[in-house]
Amino acid sequence: MTNYLFEPSAPSVIPIVGSDQVYPVNRIFCVGRNYEAHAAEMGAVVDREAPFYFTKSPTTLVMAEGEIAYAPRTENYHYEMELVFALNSGGTDIAEEDALSHIFGAAAGLDMTRRDHQNKAKETRRPWDTSKDVEQSAVITPLRPMADVPSLGAGRIHLEQNGELRQEADLSQMVWSVPEIIADLSTMYTLKQGDVIYMGTPAGVGAVERGDVLTGGVDGIADFTVKIV
Ligand code: MN
Repeated sequence: MTNYLFEPSAPSVIPIVGSDQVYPVNRIFCVGRNYEAHAAEMGAVVDREAPFYFTKSPTTLVMAEGEIAYAPRTENYHYEMELVFALNSGGTDIAEEDALSHIFGAAAGLDMTRRDHQNKAKETRRPWDTSKDVEQSAVITPLRPMADVPSLGAGRIHLEQNGELRQEADLSQMVWSVPEIIADLSTMYTLKQGDVIYMGTPAGVGAVERGDVLTGGVDGIADFTVKIV
């Protein structure tokens, strides 16, 4: 037995639809600018040569239910509605045609973002960590096993703020598909079970206020309601 100075933190876990088991999380990767209209609203253009990524710590995960804390040290805390998937195996240099076989299941999620920090980071060429790696910012629904997921390549994705539709798109509008992302990421990382990927947000991102109710979902995968407090 390793003689730890103190008890290590338990892994972050995601419930699984229809199961008593939970999914232990290893890493969280997030895709940037994966819908053309969202890249445009951020004042950027999609890089069709290669996708780009940032990461969130597994400790930022929070279930998409009940109340979620408004992050400290921001005046511009944004929702980003996203398709999420989770791996049950991995490897390096995974071929696109094999990519889907490595996926355990899918969920709906929010990539909550300190937009003021991110804007300043872009201006000053500083890293995005404090804009993206924010406690309770990786919001996620329970994982639906792939056998019950209709598609990761098509389907409506949407988000409402206090009942007003803010984001609406189809997964087919993603610039980089799920297989393409797995193939590309696996050239830089040895992907493995426990790795979770947020696939980027459609246009319509915006700021939340304390008391806001966010509802969202991806057709056939998950729906959720959360309150920002
Ligand atoms: Mn995002």
